[in-house]
Amino acid sequence: MKKKSISPERAKFISSLLVTLTFMIIALVSSGFYTKRMLDKAREQYFESLNVSTEGFSKLISTELTNYKDILSTFYLDYVFDTEDTKQIYDFLKKYHYKKHEDFLHLYFMTPDGTAYLSDGTIFQMSPERHANADTASTFFVSDLLVPPGENEYSFCVEQAIVNDDGEFIGVMGASISIDAFMARNRGIKIGNKESFMLMDKRGIFLLHERKEVIGRFYIPQDKKFMNTASEVLAHSPPITIYAQQDDGAFIYLVTRKIPEAGWTLAIKTSIEEIDAIYKPQMHIEFLILIFLVLIIVGLVLIESKVMDIFQKKQLIATVYDPLTNLWTRQRFEEEAQKQLKNNAHSKFLLIEADIRGLKFINQNYGEEAADDVLIYFADALKRFSTENHAIIGRGFADRFYIFMRITSIHNAMRVIREKTSMFAEKVKNYDIPFFPKYGIAFYKPGDRKQGVTVQTLIGQASFAKSSIKDNLMVSYTVYNSKMLEKVQNERFLESHMEQALENDEFFIMYQPKIALSNDKVVGAEALVRWKNKELGVIMPDNFIPLFEKNGFITKLDYYVYDKVFAFIQKLMQEGKNVVPISVNMSRNHNKPDKFIQDFMEIFNKYNIPPTLVQIEILERSVMDNTTLKDITERLHKEGFSVAMDDFGSGESSLNMLSKIPVDVLKFDREFLNASTDKNGRIDKQSENFIHGLIDLSKNLDKQTVFEGVETQAQRDFLRSVACDQAQGFFYSKPLTEEDFIEFIKQHS
Ligand code: C2E
Ligand code: CA
Ligand code: CA
Repeated sequence: MKKKSISPERAKFISSLLVTLTFMIIALVSSGFYTKRMLDKAREQYFESLNVSTEGFSKLISTELTNYKDILSTFYLDYVFDTEDTKQIYDFLKKYHYKKHEDFLHLYFMTPDGTAYLSDGTIFQMSPERHANADTASTFFVSDLLVPPGENEYSFCVEQAIVNDDGEFIGVMGASISIDAFMARNRGIKIGNKESFMLMDKRGIFLLHERKEVIGRFYIPQDKKFMNTASEVLAHSPPITIYAQQDDGAFIYLVTRKIPEAGWTLAIKTSIEEIDAIYKPQMHIEFLILIFLVLIIVGLVLIESKVMDIFQKKQLIATVYDPLTNLWTRQRFEEEAQKQLKNNAHSKFLLIEADIRGLKFINQNYGEEAADDVLIYFADALKRFSTENHAIIGRGFADRFYIFMRITSIHNAMRVIREKTSMFAEKVKNYDIPFFPKYGIAFYKPGDRKQGVTVQTLIGQASFAKSSIKDNLMVSYTVYNSKMLEKVQNERFLESHMEQALENDEFFIMYQPKIALSNDKVVGAEALVRWKNKELGVIMPDNFIPLFEKNGFITKLDYYVYDKVFAFIQKLMQEGKNVVPISVNMSRNHNKPDKFIQDFMEIFNKYNIPPTLVQIEILERSVMDNTTLKDITERLHKEGFSVAMDDFGSGESSLNMLSKIPVDVLKFDREFLNASTDKNGRIDKQSENFIHGLIDLSKNLDKQTVFEGVETQAQRDFLRSVACDQAQGFFYSKPLTEEDFIEFIKQHS
């Protein structure tokens, strides 16, 4: 499976997102904690203030009651109440009726049997058990809620039990207080409009309540769960904060306090909804905090990305400058060059790709440091060149350097390059480690823009031109031209078609006669292959043999040619025609003598022809070493074939070697004649002497001599004069088709 790679942008985005998310979560959790704590605290504070208020209100009621008591006390006069005469007390109260407190309904004196003498002059029967008695004598007494019969006004009483000097309980002095009045007095008991209060008497009956109709009743919750919040229960329990449910189903909190003077219970009620309402502003704050945090996070992320940018910029410096040479990196170079190209599309430009031959070799033999020194030295020289010519320069992989500059004329630019490269080549000879740079050059002309030529294209072209320099030390630079590319494209085409071509018999053979110089008669021929392609027509071997040598296909083609040639010879023989020995070429790729001989014989044995009609041309400049050459020649001799050394003189083989390699024929390279012939076809004297010497030498070594490329009569006449054995060349004949060759033999036998 292919691993998906993530682009840096995407990675950055994801990392930012992760950072943001992490921050968000942290912010949410901490703000959650924070607001929860705040809310808890607020709730706590709320209940605290509620408790404080309740406490305060209970004090208020206590004060109210004490106030009643104090008023009541003003009526208590020893001399009146010491008397056992009820009538006297009654008269006293009646007399001072007007002095009673405004909340008081009545002032009264009640005898132990419950007969109450009211200050308004009426007498009334009370239930003594609900009033002060001997047991409460010393204390101030506050009754529970009372509903006096006949009166629909609720009230309660504040009373003082009266005992005589003998400690005998003689009655009660009291005042009845209207609930309405009491209510009015306590209207101040309010904490905003969220809470309301209620006052229960000792039995749990409501004395005061916001809803008047409830007064005089108990509260019994509908849901049994809340039974502990029944008014009766609350009336009997100590101060408490309790969760409860109202008649209407709403949930509430109740905070209770005792009114010690009366044994009553004050309850402040607050609904949950109302508490929540108090919290609402807090929620609002929570929301604000959240937004605030989000803003902080966004800010942080922005800062983070800015910091990352700065960080990346720092890293960028490393990607912009090559650390070894301090030159721009290729990437930076390309960007800058492309910019120049874009902004000056109507100018001419030059791009050079330079490198050092065999840097690997320097690396291995002198060490990495030395190689680095060479690179720095070379980089400095290129840098100087760039500065002088207002060019930009960058370094690519390993020893590859790039120079890009605007030029006014290609001609001038080439002159400068020629001068500089040869000057530098001289200079480098004196450097610690002499080295040979090579340069590929590409030109940009205004018209190239339309072809979509970019800096990358130019680099590709320069690189391609440079790669065509190969090993020739004499050449240090090459200029790209479109033919170079054509060549490569052509080679690619040939390579992709060669196998099929062999199967389709697209290769055919032509025969170039060899002529005996003594009598101008045909004495042999060389088989030369051609390729007839549907698209390209007839392709000459110079266009595909070097390629096939490179890719190894040549061995197959050689065997194919041998097969065709042997078949041709056999055909001529069978048809009773004149036959001459035919030489076939053996490519450089056959370097295993055993294998070659075996394959060769296998083909040869398919036909019934004598080996004397076959000659093998072995290249002088081949990968084979002398022993292999010798080995193959000897084996071919053993099988009865003759062997010629092809292109003799084009390589470095010494004449000394000739005595060791047992070839029968020396086939002198075309260049011998080419180089010694002037444009009028005459050979200069010096060359004549040289060739003459070579031929004599060959004869002494017992080799036959053949000259290739004989094109003129002068050449032919000269070769004849020095007793060269044979000639092959256009002077006699171009390579011929089978039929033409048969005809040629007929004519020249
Ligand atoms: P080569 O073996 O030196 O073949 C001689 C080449 O010289 C032939 O070129 C031939 O046409 C050419 N030639 C002959 N007379 C003259 C002349 O008077 N003037 C000039 N300028 N040229 C002349 P061709 O046929 O193009 O072959 C080129 C090379 O291709 C051959 O050079 C040989 O190295 C290779 N080659 C051709 N056929 C085969 C083959 O079947 N197998 C192998 N391995 N190589 C082959
Ligand atoms: Ca040849
Ligand atoms: Ca040749």
